Amino acid sequence: AEKPKSDRILMQRIDSVNASEAELLETLKRPSQKSPEAILKIVTPIIEDVRKNGDKAVLSYTHKFEKATSLTSPVLKAPFPKELMQLPAETIKAIDTSFENIRKFHAAQGDDKTLQVETMPGVICSRFSRPIERVGLYVPGGTAVLPSTALMLGVPAMVAGCKKIVLASPPRADGSVTPEIVYAAHKVGAESIVLAGGAQAVAAMAYGTESITKVDKILGPGNQFVTAAKMHVSNDTNAGVSIDMPAGPSEVLVIADKDSNPAFVASDLLSQAEHGVDSQVILIAVDLNEEQLKAIEDEVHNQAIALPRVDIVRGSIAHSVSVLVKDIDEAMRISNEYAPEHLILQIKDAAKAVDLVMNAGSVFIGEWTPESVGDYSAGVNHSLPTYGFAKQYSGVNLGSFQKHITSSNLTAEGLRNVGSAVMQLAKVEELEAHRRAVEIRIKHMDAQK
Ligand code: NAD
Repeated sequence: AEKPKSDRILMQRIDSVNASEAELLETLKRPSQKSPEAILKIVTPIIEDVRKNGDKAVLSYTHKFEKATSLTSPVLKAPFPKELMQLPAETIKAIDTSFENIRKFHAAQGDDKTLQVETMPGVICSRFSRPIERVGLYVPGGTAVLPSTALMLGVPAMVAGCKKIVLASPPRADGSVTPEIVYAAHKVGAESIVLAGGAQAVAAMAYGTESITKVDKILGPGNQFVTAAKMHVSNDTNAGVSIDMPAGPSEVLVIADKDSNPAFVASDLLSQAEHGVDSQVILIAVDLNEEQLKAIEDEVHNQAIALPRVDIVRGSIAHSVSVLVKDIDEAMRISNEYAPEHLILQIKDAAKAVDLVMNAGSVFIGEWTPESVGDYSAGVNHSLPTYGFAKQYSGVNLGSFQKHITSSNLTAEGLRNVGSAVMQLAKVEELEAHRRAVEIRIKHMDAQK
């Protein structure tokens, strides 16, 4: 039942001093997701259908899920017609500004110089990078318009030099793609836009169809159907496709102390809470008294009821938590254990606290750095690991679109220097041909003396 707008929107509180570690971890648990098996049962037949029947199958799912029954081709190829990217001047300007900042930051991540190390005299090991040739970028559709996601995936792909950039996004019911996404695709030099969403879009890019280019890697967020389909195709060795990372609902953890501005803290919590009812927001309050904590809670409520998406906010705040801690060390310990997608530091000497960050997707430092700037325009990537995967995954970056290739180059002296170690280990592993490949050369050198 819909709650009246006056109901207080309040995060539950937990005091880390009184709570046991187990209680604390239980409170910070992410909302559970539908079982992957149930979702896989739905997406597997869709993937199979697309693999076997190509364009025809993709179209039929787009007709079904997006109701875009007028659509007769599942793909739009570049160059994209100008009339499909008609936008207000201020939107063009905003996309151009964001594009340029994201480009600058990702271009600086390049390691174009070949790394070279002489591990022993005459033994030269090198590493160099090459772009992944064909990439598929999933831009979620549904109700939202997400040109920012198209930029966050497309710009690093362009900077990396990927030869074929394929974008996929579910079309609107009239069969069109939002002009913002077409413009972003044009700017990053995409070769095509797949007009499909969900498992059918993922399968089409993984296997290719008559008109859709097969890709080598699929990146991008999406709902559970998209995520399950990405997992499925990346497990199929015949598909020959990899994915960026597992994805879950978006989340933020804000650490705030006495120095923080309650209105700023609340605005950051809410900008995450409005994403979806499954989003989670965590506040870690460092040594705040009752009055200071209440000031933040009042701001959360008052700002929330004025938001157009207040009903979504109610849902996400219902499973969100304020954790009261004594000091910054305890705050960072909990944050590192939670491993947030976004970590916001609204504390004194915020920049210094970054040294304590072990697990996080992206960090926002100080009171003038709301998460929104990173979501859109600062230059950092917003495609980040969720659901605690910040413990082992990085967000999308230039390296997500590259392979690193190594090479070795030995002189005769080098082979002499390293040869005895190689031959001994080959002997231990009983791989005689390996041993002889060295021996035959050393004998050859000796014979020439
Ligand atoms: P979506 O593009 O992810 O999914 C739409 C597709 O879902 C449809 O095309 C359809 O194929 C499929 N689908 C829907 N119902 C289905 C069913 N019953 N059976 C089979 N397939 C079905 O768009 P969405 O659903 O609006 O979800 C957007 C998602 O993207 C959200 O989960 C949001 O949290 C996430 N998101 C994440 C980020 C990020 O950076 N982390 C950014 C934006 C969006």
